[in-house]
Amino acid sequence: MTHDAAVLKAGEIASRVLAPSAGQNDKAGRFSTEAVEAIGVSGLLGLMLPVEVGGSGLGPRTMAAVIATLAEADASVAMVYLMHILGAATIAAARPGAAHAVAAILQEIGAGRHLSTLAFSEAGSRSHFWAPTSRALRSGNGVRISAKKSWVTSAGHAHSYVVSSLAPEGQGPTDSTLYLLPAKTRGLSVAGPWDGMGLRANASSPITLDDCEVPSDFQLTDDGAGFPAMLNVVLPLFNLGTAAVALGICRAAVAGTVSHLKSARFEHLGQSLGESLPTLRAQLAAMQIDSDGLSARIDDLIDHLEKPHETTMLRVLETKAAAGDAAIGVTSAAMRICGGAAFSKQLNVERLFRDAHAGAVMAPTGDVLREFIGKALLGMPLF
Ligand SMILES: Cc1cc2nc3c(=O)[nH]c(=O)nc-3n(C[C@H](O)[C@H](O)[C@H](O)COP(=O)(O)OP(=O)(O)OC[C@H]3O[C@@H](n4cnc5c(N)ncnc54)[C@H](O)[C@@H]3O)c2cc1C
Repeated sequence: MTHDAAVLKAGEIASRVLAPSAGQNDKAGRFSTEAVEAIGVSGLLGLMLPVEVGGSGLGPRTMAAVIATLAEADASVAMVYLMHILGAATIAAARPGAAHAVAAILQEIGAGRHLSTLAFSEAGSRSHFWAPTSRALRSGNGVRISAKKSWVTSAGHAHSYVVSSLAPEGQGPTDSTLYLLPAKTRGLSVAGPWDGMGLRANASSPITLDDCEVPSDFQLTDDGAGFPAMLNVVLPLFNLGTAAVALGICRAAVAGTVSHLKSARFEHLGQSLGESLPTLRAQLAAMQIDSDGLSARIDDLIDHLEKPHETTMLRVLETKAAAGDAAIGVTSAAMRICGGAAFSKQLNVERLFRDAHAGAVMAPTGDVLREFIGKALLGMPLF
């Protein structure tokens, strides 16, 4: 698959499967199994996996374009897809000792039949996902894990979970290891419903691991090497992907606002809202400027990821922080411009406004990113 073919497929799925049901799924808090099936059939689940396991071997540029396209129609599905891409990337980066055991799972992903996700955040350390409070215990040739994972996108729908836990002999708070737990692992259960303010259709429920047995074959990183994998494999793609979700939301907010300004009318003046009020046109223009600014920022981050240099990690941190602010700003403007029609939920901008807030809450949160950037600029240690 080429870059253009992947983006075309995403666009086709967005208009045929996602757009018609995004509003209803949001209202009902319903996970779209049809969307995951369509994405699987299209070959996009294996987008970044090597060709040898049936993937397309494409890079962050295509990932961001596909995610922004999906998010423009339904940000919940785009986030499900992003968390899968991250799970798949972490599985594909497995240490040599696990490579043979996970090969079958990678092939299932490449064939579009396996959805994965990340289960990092824990009730004990909240948004500080880099410091799990659970600890894996040695058992036979593997480990046993008990943990309260506080939010897991696609909970109950994913076929596997990439799980973090402190290494059995880890000394410090970031000495974690990553493991792969198939959904059918005994002791793994969804621990509650998902009824979020935004991204309501992505099943981000808590998960409980109750003495789950994990054979050494499914230990993805060396003991204590979970943290570098989080930083090097997951963080750059996660920050890029959430920025792409934010971009899709911004684009949809601009389109929804344009449509309202053209169709809603002051009948007593014989004009549409857009024709009548320069103040609304100016606010719409600001939304467009901010959306295009985010798009340029995403392109810049992609350039950095394709050709890393000393400012790359700074750009990784900045882009998610800026994207969260942009999406909240653009959708807030859309709410204001569209007035009562948005407030009374007649327009999709209300869903976009709620979805936009998830990016700032998802870890690393906007606050944490700004804290890291400030520390980095002052030459202070980040952790
Ligand atoms: C829709 C959705 C999907 C999610 N999916 C997943 C998933 O698939 N896998 C997963 O592992 N997790 C997932 N999460 C969890 C997410 O990544 C965060 O861990 C979680 O939202 C943070 O929860 P909290 O507000 O309780 O964090 P808290 O740590 O209680 O944060 C509270 C506030 O304190 C601020 N804060 C915290 N630490 C600092 C600091 N050092 N400096 C400055 N400010 C700080 C935060 O920014 C926030 O404003 C998901 C969350 C959401 C909303």
